[in-house]
Amino acid sequence: MTMLTISPIPAFSDNYIWLVQSGKSAVVVDPGEPEPVLRALSERQVDLTDILITHHHHDHTGAVSRLKDETGCILWGPSGSPAGPFDYMLAEGDTVEVLGTTFDVLAVPGHTLDHIAYFSEFEKALFCGDTLFVGGCGRVFEGTAPQMRASLKKLAQLPSDTRAFCAHEYTLANLRFALQVEPGNQMLREKLRACEDKRRDNIPTVPSLIGEEIGYNPFLRWDSDAIRHTLLKQERLLEDTEDGVFAAVREWKNTA
Ligand SMILES: [Zn+2]
Repeated sequence: MTMLTISPIPAFSDNYIWLVQSGKSAVVVDPGEPEPVLRALSERQVDLTDILITHHHHDHTGAVSRLKDETGCILWGPSGSPAGPFDYMLAEGDTVEVLGTTFDVLAVPGHTLDHIAYFSEFEKALFCGDTLFVGGCGRVFEGTAPQMRASLKKLAQLPSDTRAFCAHEYTLANLRFALQVEPGNQMLREKLRACEDKRRDNIPTVPSLIGEEIGYNPFLRWDSDAIRHTLLKQERLLEDTEDGVFAAVREWKNTA
């Protein structure tokens, strides 16, 4: 049984700031904008005790100084981050204790070099920022494609019932692209239909489960023969390896 309540605070046009609550205490993950967070705290009558940061991009960190000033909360974030320093500087293998729960820190470089993720086995919850999206993954801005694939592989190896809380509502665009890459994937078609229904009612499609992502997310399916054949047929596969498949799908998405 999980103990924490996890809910999205929509920010900007398509960001989710995750509000994690236990009793009257709360933590937020990747607050890019202060106003929606302050409003949510006041509506729920909870105190902000901690902020978790996954990586340095402004839409994940823009509210940090204001929230720190107004609440005195503790900041946790990646060591060596351009957005630091934080009260606690984290790297692979570190643990974070918040709201009576332990989160393991996973280094997941690729989108940025400082990117980390927070995983609680007990809560079956993963905060993965801009590394893994529902049906997609972040752009590789600072790292390399093999580095990003290794980071995604690390996340794919978490327990299949882990809920992945990513930071953007990019799902429909991701799944429609995924269908171009793997048109014969029935699970993917069903996922798209279910997510279209949710978005029609303005319901978040996040979180998804790690176990289901493996079945339809083309950025976790570098071992799929169907995807490899599509890439070969379209002359997109420059290097016939798993890293090559991942890089080709990422490049295709960048220009789609
Ligand atoms: Zn980012």
